[in-house]
Parts: sequence; C-alpha cells; structure tokens
Amino acid sequence: MAKSVLVIGGGPAGLSAARALGRLGVPTILVEKDGQLGGNPIKNHYHTLIPRKLKPSQVIGPYIKEVESNPNIKVLLNTELTACEGEAGSFKVTLSNGEKHEVGAIIVATGFEHFDPRRKGELGYGLYPDVITNLELERMFSQEGRLYRPSNGQLPKRVAFVFCVGSRDRQLGVTNVHCCRYGCALSGLQGMEIREHYPDVDVFCYYMDVRTYGTWEYPFYWAPQEKYGVRYVRGRIAEITYSPADGRLRVKHEDTIVQRPSEVPMDLVVLVLGMEPSPGTKKVAKILGLAQDPDSQFLIPSDESGSNIISNKPGIFIAGACKGPIDIESSFSEGEAAAAEAAAFIGAKVTV
Ligand SMILES: Cc1cc2nc3c(=O)[nH]c(=O)nc-3n(C[C@H](O)[C@H](O)[C@H](O)COP(=O)(O)OP(=O)(O)OC[C@H]3O[C@@H](n4cnc5c(N)ncnc54)[C@H](O)[C@@H]3O)c2cc1C
Ligand code: SF4
Repeated sequence: MAKSVLVIGGGPAGLSAARALGRLGVPTILVEKDGQLGGNPIKNHYHTLIPRKLKPSQVIGPYIKEVESNPNIKVLLNTELTACEGEAGSFKVTLSNGEKHEVGAIIVATGFEHFDPRRKGELGYGLYPDVITNLELERMFSQEGRLYRPSNGQLPKRVAFVFCVGSRDRQLGVTNVHCCRYGCALSGLQGMEIREHYPDVDVFCYYMDVRTYGTWEYPFYWAPQEKYGVRYVRGRIAEITYSPADGRLRVKHEDTIVQRPSEVPMDLVVLVLGMEPSPGTKKVAKILGLAQDPDSQFLIPSDESGSNIISNKPGIFIAGACKGPIDIESSFSEGEAAAAEAAAFIGAKVTV
C-alpha cells in the first residue's frame, strides 16, 4: 500500500483535503491545472461571499497559505493528471509535467464551470453591452470598485437580476435542470450592496421561485426587501431587447402573479449564471472511470456506500462542486471528509 495521496484540483474542496492530509502527516501531492490555487472564487475575483460577507482572500486565503507552507504537501501548478494505471492502494499516475508517482488513494476535486449565457440568445448577452453576468458584476465591484453601465460608463438608474440562467431550464435539455443553489442568495446580497452604496438605484429581481436554502432565507431574501427595498418580480423572462430611442434595455416577461405580459425599461441586466461540471471533471472521470450522472454529467457517489464522497472506484474519493452545485463551506467540509477517508484507506500512521 503506497502511503501518499494525490489530490486533483486546488479549489476550496481540494485545498481543504490537502490541508487536512498535510496536518495528519500524510505525504500529499496537489495538482492544479491553472497557475494559481483557490478555484473559481479566487480565479474569477468573486467580491463578497455568502453567507458571512467576507472576501474570498479572507475565506480561502488561509487554506492556500497553509497548503503552500506545509512540507507534507507538494503543490504542482499548471499540472493535470494524464493517465492512471494500477489499482486502489497502488495507483501509478502520470502527470502532464512528465512526473510519475505511486499513490495509495486519490481525491478528485475538479469543480465546476460557469454556464455560458450565449446559449440563451434571447437574453441578449454578447449583443447588448449592458447585459452582463453576475460574475462580471462581482468583478466590477472587486476590481473597479463601482457600478456602471458598460455602454456609457454611467451609473444605471434601474438594475434587473435575472435568476436561473442555465439552471432549472428544460429548454436546454436534461443537462441543465438542476438548481445552482447559490444564485438567489448571492443576488440578494448583491442587490443589498447596490442599494447601500447607491440608494437612488432601483433593483429588481426576476425569479421563478426563490430558493434561499436553510438559514439564508432571512439575510438574503427578506432583508433585501425589508431593509434595502429590493423588489422581487415573479415571472419568466421572454426576451431582452434594446431601444435605440432611449438607449435603454427592455425586459419582456410574463408576470406569473398578475398573469399578464409586461415590458420594463432597464439600464443594466445581470444574468445569474448556473453551474456545470468543469471540462477537467469530465476529463478526470474518463481517465479514472468515475460514474457520472447521465443527465448533468456531474460525478456521482457509489450507490452502496451511503456516503456522498466515496466514488464507484475503491480508493478514489470525490469532493466539492465536481458533484454538483455546492457552497464553499460545504466544499471545505467535503474536502476534509475525503481526506479522512483517504487517510484511513491507506492506513496512514497519523502524526499529530
Ligand atoms: C458566480 C458564483 C458566485 C458564487 N458565490 C459563492 C459565495 O458567495 N459563497 C459560497 O459559499 N459559494 C459561492 N459559489 C459557489 C462556489 O464557487 C463553490 O462552492 C466552490 O467554488 C466549489 O469549490 P470546488 O473546489 O469544488 O470547485 P472550484 O472552485 O471549481 O475549483 C476546482 C479547481 O480544480 C481545478 N481543476 C479542474 N480540473 C482539473 C484537472 N483536470 N486537473 C487539475 N486541476 C483541475 C480548477 O482549475 C479549479 O481550481 C458561487 C458560485 C458562482 C458560480
Ligand atoms: S438558487 Fe435561485 S437562481 Fe439558482 S437555480 Fe436555484 S432558484 Fe434559480
């Protein structure tokens, strides 16, 4: 039995798995395909995180620091798994940098990618500069520190959030019927941030139904309305167009409460993006023979184990958003659980 563990993916799930293994004294190799650790929240400059309203550097930064400085952990950036032979307890892995290693267990934490809104042509993304994604709004806040209309650089008077773009959408087929889990809550937070800094800007949220899970209901659904005056409108968006007459967007939708179509002028429309399995998740699934959901293509755990992190392949554990939409704190927890399982699997002699 080889006594080291390979962790694939350096986002929240992979970082927490590597950190836990390092703390247990288990020799660990962490491979990350990009040039930096931190996963989507760091790479894509998320601004303020739900639920604690902290910055990604505050939440994920300490994990990166510890992983980079623990001598039990070897971090390989710009590196991927290219081949794997052998079996549980003695996997012989080949990496894209040419290195070969023998490891006893593998943790897959290859995460998700954002839905490409160009696939919903009727929403006008890529056509009208003032239709942006919530990811771009996060970058606007975190990198430029101000809210503006990309078309003219001016402060918008009316901002609309369109929920569920690329999620819960049967028009896209079976691949995108899942809920993104974070979108309603993050939009509530972003709406509050806009109203706090720009009280004259009106904010509207267009929703099918609002899913602010568990304890997120008051702080990210009721508080935006009761304390900040964010307005919620129930309905499906039919189309977003542009009116050259006044240079504003038009949001056309069917209000499903009053049951009539309406067309509302907006200055900035923010699309709330869904989550899909990352290309890396699909690639690693093929190399390792991991089971995927036939519809969404996310990884699925073994039927027999009853555990969410034990894969269909002995000695291989799966954590975080490679299995579907999940928040950061849960990704951390799953990484730690996968580390405990992997350490137990290789019979690690724990040093504390
Ligand atoms: C717009 C948006 C905002 C969000 N805001 C919040 C929030 O405020 N609070 C919250 O709790 N959650 C939020 N989330 C969810 C959060 O992003 C996820 O919970 C978290 O990123 C999942 O971590 P992960 O490590 O599983 O995946 P990821 O963050 O996707 O990290 C996976 C890592 O694996 C790497 N990788 C992929 N393939 C390979 C490969 N083959 N080899 C090596 N490395 C590979 C990737 O480069 C990446 O670094 C948000 C999601 C979105 C879409
Ligand atoms: S969390 Fe909200 S925005 Fe995201 S898919 Fe679910 S209902 Fe839609």
